[in-house]
Amino acid sequence: MAAPVNPSPLNKAFKHLDIDGHDLPPSPAPSSPGNGKKYTLATELVYTESNDQYNASSVPIYQSATFKGEGNEYDYTRSGNPTRTHLERHLAKIMGAHRALVVSSGMAALDVITRLLKPGDEVVTGDDLYGGTNRLLKFLTTHGGIIVHHVDTTNPAAVQAVLSPKTTMMLLETPTNPLMKIVDIPTLSSAAHAANPAALVVVDNTMLSPYLQNPLDLGADIVYESGTKYLSGHHDVMAGVVATNDPQLGDRLYFPINASGCGLSPFDSWLLLRGIKTLAVRMEKQQANAQAIAEFLEGHGFKVRYPGLKSHPQYDLHWSQARGAGAVMSFETGSTAVSERIVEAARLFAISVSFGCVNSLISMPCRMSHASIDAATRKERSLPEDIIRLCIGIEDVSDLIDDLQQALVRAGAVRITTEGGIQALDSRDVEGGTAQTRQVTDEP
Ligand SMILES: *Cc1c(COP(=O)(O)O)cnc(C)c1O
Repeated sequence: MAAPVNPSPLNKAFKHLDIDGHDLPPSPAPSSPGNGKKYTLATELVYTESNDQYNASSVPIYQSATFKGEGNEYDYTRSGNPTRTHLERHLAKIMGAHRALVVSSGMAALDVITRLLKPGDEVVTGDDLYGGTNRLLKFLTTHGGIIVHHVDTTNPAAVQAVLSPKTTMMLLETPTNPLMKIVDIPTLSSAAHAANPAALVVVDNTMLSPYLQNPLDLGADIVYESGTKYLSGHHDVMAGVVATNDPQLGDRLYFPINASGCGLSPFDSWLLLRGIKTLAVRMEKQQANAQAIAEFLEGHGFKVRYPGLKSHPQYDLHWSQARGAGAVMSFETGSTAVSERIVEAARLFAISVSFGCVNSLISMPCRMSHASIDAATRKERSLPEDIIRLCIGIEDVSDLIDDLQQALVRAGAVRITTEGGIQALDSRDVEGGTAQTRQVTDEP
């Protein structure tokens, strides 16, 4: 195609600025209360104003690769598309960002971000990362000449030890998955910027979504997340979002999207836009359910990792930077075999990778999402082989607890107490003493 005259719609000079001085874009525009009042996030999620020519209530899907004419706002969908632009502006508003960009997956978002790196650049990151993130970073070390330092990012001293003026990027994830470790975004951002003022602090916010945490307000330069998870909420679309408050950085991030063509398609942009409208109600319900389930499991003697529990070692740190605990948790049973039986015995909880969907999921990370990390590395990073991850949906919480309870009983993970309750077996008992419990309680 001919080079777009004006590839970025945001390069146009806008007549208006909103109350934060952000550009207030033309059609199709997101909301911006004209009276200067700011709406709360739950309202902003559903409120969009588009001056569509027919006043369509749902933003139209501009299923068109090309646009006629010269010098117009849109000419070619790889460079820009009205449905995608609307979604990007809506997300920028929700993420408190100057600019948001949407791409074909969460990993595409990280790919776009890592294209800011040059051979020899040093990246400081965690040792408990999302598997796909590890894989991409590994590839960049072998094929792109990037130097990656994996450290325990819950320990600021360990991070400090690898920071240097050569650090060009710090890549953080919090809470980590499935160990639910919390990373201090403000402290580590300051440390990275002190080591190298030009260093870019990047945060993967997938586990909490913009509804619960805003890394850009905590010192990060770039935030990204998988739109496949909470933002869309229905596991019917793959998408990724990158956002920043630095307009120049926004342009640098837009470049690889236009150059490679990983921008989100018009139809998927529309699906994601529809999902985002219910983010607040989904997340509120999902985390209320998650809290009840975490308390149920902990109350029965399991080791549960969930930042909504006071027993979480970094409870205060988590709540100092986030507005909620999210809906992902993990727990241990003391035995890989018992964990496998629990996962198989669950009915309502689908066995599936991923999270953020309206239905509840159960998985064993060492067998599924984290299987791409070899066993030795998993051990080194203290990822217990028996760990079970639960991703809680919007179902009725008593149905979820009943389902878990029957799975625990059938798997022999608990014994029936004299009061008729259930109690987690001591890990020493687990391998030997399960037969009887299972026999007594197996369903007909
Ligand atoms: C799923 C996920 C990603 C990758 O997103 P995709 O949309 O699957 O490419 C990145 N980070 C975290 C924490 C995730 O859970």
